[in-house]
Amino acid sequence: MKGRVAVVGAGTSGLLTARRLNELSVDAVVYEQRVRPGYPVSASGILSIGGLSTLGIGYRGAVTNTLYGARLHMGRETIEVRSRRAVARVLDRSKLNEICYEECERSGVEIKVGRRVDATLLGELSKDRIIVGADGVVSTVARHFDFPPISRHILTYRVEYEHGSLDDNRAVELFFDNSVTPGFFGWVSPVSEVVCEAGVGIDSRKGNSKKAFEGFVKLDSVRKLIGKGRIINEGAGVIPVGLRRHFVDEKREVLLVGDAAGQVKPTTGGGVIFGGNGALLAANAIHDYINQNGQLIDYEKRWRREFEKEIRLHSFLHTLYASLDKKQLERIAGILKATRFDRFLDRYGDMDRPSVMIKRFFFRDMLE
Ligand SMILES: Cc1cc2nc3c(=O)[nH]c(=O)nc-3n(C[C@H](O)[C@H](O)[C@H](O)COP(=O)(O)OP(=O)(O)OC[C@H]3O[C@@H](n4cnc5c(N)ncnc54)[C@H](O)[C@@H]3O)c2cc1C
Repeated sequence: MKGRVAVVGAGTSGLLTARRLNELSVDAVVYEQRVRPGYPVSASGILSIGGLSTLGIGYRGAVTNTLYGARLHMGRETIEVRSRRAVARVLDRSKLNEICYEECERSGVEIKVGRRVDATLLGELSKDRIIVGADGVVSTVARHFDFPPISRHILTYRVEYEHGSLDDNRAVELFFDNSVTPGFFGWVSPVSEVVCEAGVGIDSRKGNSKKAFEGFVKLDSVRKLIGKGRIINEGAGVIPVGLRRHFVDEKREVLLVGDAAGQVKPTTGGGVIFGGNGALLAANAIHDYINQNGQLIDYEKRWRREFEKEIRLHSFLHTLYASLDKKQLERIAGILKATRFDRFLDRYGDMDRPSVMIKRFFFRDMLE
């Protein structure tokens, strides 16, 4: 049995794994291909406040805005969901990564930056180290150790505008239209008082995200929101949709966490909370394994027990939405309004856990 760990990737998942291992006195080294982890940023940072609290990151220095709700545009219908309490923080993702990096370094974890891990290095490391693949959606670790593939991917394109003209700085605008963003959605979100972000995601089998973005920002309603903002940052990204069939190889002592494992909500593409929790569970299982109190597979079992039901529900909702045309979406929006689902979401919505929300919906009479 190996007693030391190599973590591949210094994104939030890798850094959280290493920090937790260090807290548990397990020797871990992180390898990161970038010289400055987290830069340039290619992702948004809308994270539920409840979810963030589970990660134990001192994230406050990365907060750029706080959200109270969302407007869901479905054809000509709009569902407005607004809570009296803050529901999500908007975070500067590079800053968040920087904070995780500093927390890790301060606690004494060795982080080797500018070190891309390839097949040769993996061969070397796996002789005497447990390997944690936290190397994102295009995972070298997963490929090298023959993990099953991730079934689907969303291609994204996002642009940040300075001095965009969002009137409402407290809500994110979501646009559902499969003819513009097939298989996913478009968004305009208030990043801060002076910056807004527009972005799209599309099913990777259905075209090119930059082209979809160009179509999206031509929509009247989107153009109105962005106004004459100056572009300050833009880029493409990829989101994995669908968990790997397994993400622990006990025999070879390899574990995947975060995007590398597919620990992402298929409806929204959010992966920081589910992946971050994966990181913490993986570190705990490695500690128990080294101390002969458990097995590496306990990580996968615990993660699935906690999150698989949610992923399945997110996945069901995602597949359902992807099959609907504009008229059908409008009809559904009408039904949701008629059943007061929008008002219900105001009060009981849960960004991360649809199962909790659905339970509350059906038992709302008892809750009120
Ligand atoms: C447009 C977009 C918007 C998003 N919005 C949100 C959101 O609002 N909320 C949310 O929760 N999630 C969001 N996500 C998803 C979120 O960004 C990911 O789930 C999260 O970053 C996953 O973290 P990770 O640490 O697992 O992987 P990554 O952040 O991808 O980190 C992987 C790290 O591994 C390094 N690496 C890769 N290969 C190697 C190698 N061979 N050797 C060494 N290092 C390597 C990379 O350089 C990187 O630093 C969004 C994603 C996109 C694309």
